Amino acid sequence: APTFTHEFKTESFNGKTTFQTGVFIGGEFRDGADKTTIDVINPTNGKLITQIAEATAADVDIAVKVAQTVLETEWGLNASGELRASLLMKLALLMERDLDELSAIESLDNGKTFGWAKGTDVTFSIQTIKYFAGWADKISGQTIETDEKKLIYTRHEPLGVVGQIIPWNFPLLMFAWKIGPALATGNTIVIKPSEFTPLTALRMAALINEAGFPKGVVNILVGYGQTVGQAIAEHMDIQKVAFTGSTLVGRKIMAAAAASNLKNVTLELGGKSPNIIFDDADMEQAVNWAAHGIFWNHGQACCAGSRIFVQEGIYDEFLAKFTAKTQTINVGDPFAPGVDQGPQVSQLQYDRIMGYIDSGRQEGATVHIGGERHGTEGYFIKPTIFTDVTPEMKIVKEEIFGPVGVVIKFKDEEDVLRQANDTVYGLAAAVFSQNINRALETAHKLQAGTAWVNCVNQLHANVPFGGFKQSGIGRELGEYALHNYTNVKAVHVNLRHTK
Ligand code: NAD
Repeated sequence: APTFTHEFKTESFNGKTTFQTGVFIGGEFRDGADKTTIDVINPTNGKLITQIAEATAADVDIAVKVAQTVLETEWGLNASGELRASLLMKLALLMERDLDELSAIESLDNGKTFGWAKGTDVTFSIQTIKYFAGWADKISGQTIETDEKKLIYTRHEPLGVVGQIIPWNFPLLMFAWKIGPALATGNTIVIKPSEFTPLTALRMAALINEAGFPKGVVNILVGYGQTVGQAIAEHMDIQKVAFTGSTLVGRKIMAAAAASNLKNVTLELGGKSPNIIFDDADMEQAVNWAAHGIFWNHGQACCAGSRIFVQEGIYDEFLAKFTAKTQTINVGDPFAPGVDQGPQVSQLQYDRIMGYIDSGRQEGATVHIGGERHGTEGYFIKPTIFTDVTPEMKIVKEEIFGPVGVVIKFKDEEDVLRQANDTVYGLAAAVFSQNINRALETAHKLQAGTAWVNCVNQLHANVPFGGFKQSGIGRELGEYALHNYTNVKAVHVNLRHTK
């Protein structure tokens, strides 16, 4: 399998990275079973970064066998919580050591700015691994009192080999959110990074070895959704699949799980999150947060505040200030200091987003600002705001996953709650008001797994995240995430209860 070497000579990071790529099974890099490769493209200029070995369905079979063997020998019930904790903590410390290098790889591969990659993606990934390291020796069941003739207790046992499928918008962070709870609870893993952004996961493979995890506890297979992803979802010896990505594919995962071995399924899917700004909000804060809500990570966030509802009395003032704020967003080279927004991740996403912008125009909405590409190469799109939208328009209903927001006027609480909840999604929502009763009453009535008050897009390793409605099943992060990775066994002991 090949080695990838890259020299970063940028103002943000001046250094070199060298690591093996390939299909990572049993602690070793291999060629894929079909000996094919995947092109990794730089979204800043559309040029080839490198080619990596492509995994296919046959590799999933091999990886599952390896993961099952190590589960029964060196991991699973054979690895103490203390050992799992110390290995996870070692991994986090190695990530800290390589913070700049991981950030640079992420920025190169995904197009997000080096500053955001370092300050958020990699830093939050480290926090996540540390957080779950803390749980690893605190996984325990309960004793349950019935009567004096019985002793009954529960055990939280690992599920076994778990499959994990992750997207390209936060490649390393999604990797950390997935492996953290699975390893803390003693499972072994077959994980598929996105074919668009595989590099940080492959760099992590070397760190997983260096930390000293038994070989085969984490297997990393970069391949396409229809081959590797599908093979994971329908595998008879994978006990659970955790997926983050589109609602469309989420449905396929669930169907494949149902048709095979009824493996457990958790899904983290799309959103069309409302961001509600009442007339008593702190205007400057609401403007700044609203911009962060939709333009953070170039709009490629499942929780993006893409529907911005503004109360009628402050609509004109808000729109003027929000427009001015949007104009200050500096789009450009992700490694250049002072840049806020890099390219979209891929040609495919660029085309999808431009398609949505066209559909908004065709359906009669007004492009208030933006609506076109930035520059002449790469996948850059100007921050875009639509006004004059109506509820049935595609840009109001569907997840665009780009720097495109719609601003909608509303009358009162009842009006905005009806509109905000009028969506198949339910991932997140935000409310801006300085009246705490109004803010909390609204937050409680929004159908969403996360409700932010006077802030947007805030996430913490110890706070659960996940969706209502068609935004998903289950919760990631926090103690809640652990429940997705253990089987509860009730043990009944007969003390002196005769038959
Ligand atoms: P996707 O759902 O196709 O891809 C996500 C992951 O699923 C990738 O690893 C992909 O290879 C895999 N996959 C694809 N088809 C599969 C299949 N049949 N079986 C198993 N795995 C499969 O997402 P995308 O095409 O990259 O993006 C499309 C849209 O999805 C975006 O525009 C956005 O709306 C949404 N999305 C949401 C998130 C999120 O965080 N919720 C992340 C990425 C994309």
